[in-house]
Amino acid sequence: MTKEYRVLLYYKYTPVEDAEIFAQQHLQFCKKIGLKGRILVAAEGINGTVSGTTEQTQAYIDHMNADPRFNDITYKIDETDGHAFKKMFVRYRPEIVSLHLGGNDLNPNEVTGEYLSPEAFREAILDENTVVIDARNDYEFDLGHFRGAVRPDIRNFRELPQWIRDNKEKFMDKRVVTYCTGGIRCEKFSGWLVKEGFKDVGQLHGGIATYGKDETVKGDLWDGKMYVFDERIGVDINRIEHVVVGKDWFDGTPCERYVNCANPSCNRRMLCSEENEHKYMRSCSHGCRIHEPNYYVQRNNLSPADVAARLAAIAEPVVNSAASLA
Ligand SMILES: [Zn+2]
Repeated sequence: MTKEYRVLLYYKYTPVEDAEIFAQQHLQFCKKIGLKGRILVAAEGINGTVSGTTEQTQAYIDHMNADPRFNDITYKIDETDGHAFKKMFVRYRPEIVSLHLGGNDLNPNEVTGEYLSPEAFREAILDENTVVIDARNDYEFDLGHFRGAVRPDIRNFRELPQWIRDNKEKFMDKRVVTYCTGGIRCEKFSGWLVKEGFKDVGQLHGGIATYGKDETVKGDLWDGKMYVFDERIGVDINRIEHVVVGKDWFDGTPCERYVNCANPSCNRRMLCSEENEHKYMRSCSHGCRIHEPNYYVQRNNLSPADVAARLAAIAEPVVNSAASLA
């Protein structure tokens, strides 16, 4: 049985003239047909994830196909039970993905790594002379990743180039292949690796999303879930077996449930069971638990005495004087 809603994931590096004006008009069109989601538009192209009914998403694809700039886009399509977003945004940005390469920025249509089919990528994972680098953020990796892939220690994609430079000697003489969610980050990242002097660079064409749908590999060698930037948070990729690799931030038990740290100035994404969310007030550290404001404390209307009791239960000191007086 087919579900009534679909999520489209897509991008295209292509020159967009007057990208700011295009973004405004594109937003009007998307709203008119009832789409929801997030689309980034830049002079270098378009990058979007949108949700809608089968008719709405098809109307969008037809509209894009009628535009010569976008008529060869490959859409990764997921079926869902409802919208995956609450609102519709189309935003103009300097880049459609933030690698912040500055003077080293590049056009993936001119320089990029070799495109690997899911089958070729699967072979690369199994080849011991190949290093597989995850081009996503640490919290995406922690929910799920390809078996044996390298996890760059970064919280944001823009930190990736520096991390590679710092660890260059580990990869320089090997074949390097990269992957990301839908392929867009690898277009530039693999191109950057080529420019950086890496000899043999490949990228998973169409990203993990395409790999999961491929009828030959069926998501093989993927562990956990794929992090997605919409309300679904995580989606399944491996259709042969499901291995949980996510670990609860607090006790390390298997976990695939993401929450954000309740300290708004931290906002760290962490895997956490419902039980531990309450036990630790959805805060990643003691500093975040006693930070003001703390959204968990606010939303649950915890009094200073309540907070003190929660801290005492996990053997943490109560430093807030108001709390200790209460
Ligand atoms: Zn925190």
